[in-house]
Amino acid sequence: MRFTRLRLNGFKSFVDPTDLVIHEGLTGVVGPNGCGKSNLLEALRWVMGENRPTAMRGGGMEDVIFAGAATRPARHFAEVALVIDNQDRLAPSGFNDADQIEIVRRITRDAGSAYKANTKDVRARDVQMLFADASTGSHSPALVRQGQISELINAKPKARRRVLEEAAGISGLYARRHEAELK
Ligand code: ATP
Ligand code: MG
Repeated sequence: MRFTRLRLNGFKSFVDPTDLVIHEGLTGVVGPNGCGKSNLLEALRWVMGENRPTAMRGGGMEDVIFAGAATRPARHFAEVALVIDNQDRLAPSGFNDADQIEIVRRITRDAGSAYKANTKDVRARDVQMLFADASTGSHSPALVRQGQISELINAKPKARRRVLEEAAGISGLYARRHEAELK
């Protein structure tokens, strides 16, 4: 499984449709201050099911929608699509019936988020589980935020263990056990 494309429309500063091709070996994003580097990383976390507004540097989830600028009105929705190459057919079951998987998350003002996988409606949980089982996801240690390295150095052992568990790909199992215990 490999991420090959990230498409944004109305997400934060990416008000115009933006199609980013993710070439193999991409490890970082550089550019002038305020150009949208952190917003790109947040779009990637968001489409994978991130639900904490603080992780998006916002007060509420609708803050990811383009809020308007001097010359442009605000938008009513934001959409991010992530295209995954699944030719190796390593995607978890339920998603593993195609060579390419396109996950789309769309948020509409006052109507919340909806997800699609290859144009079929899916639940947030399905998308979160897809990425948790694939050793990635919105909490993945593979996505390094600004300031995250120093946080990791200063973290308590329990928090540091969570990072190792994400990297080992077992956090999906924890989520399922937690759900089973609630039932
Ligand atoms: P730095 O190098 O300082 O870390 P950066 O490239 O990471 O900068 P971002 O933080 O991704 O930049 O982008 C910040 C820009 O995104 C700001 O101009 C901010 O106004 C804009 N922005 C954030 N949320 C929204 C929104 N909902 N609507 C419109 N613009 C937004
Ligand atoms: Mg930044």
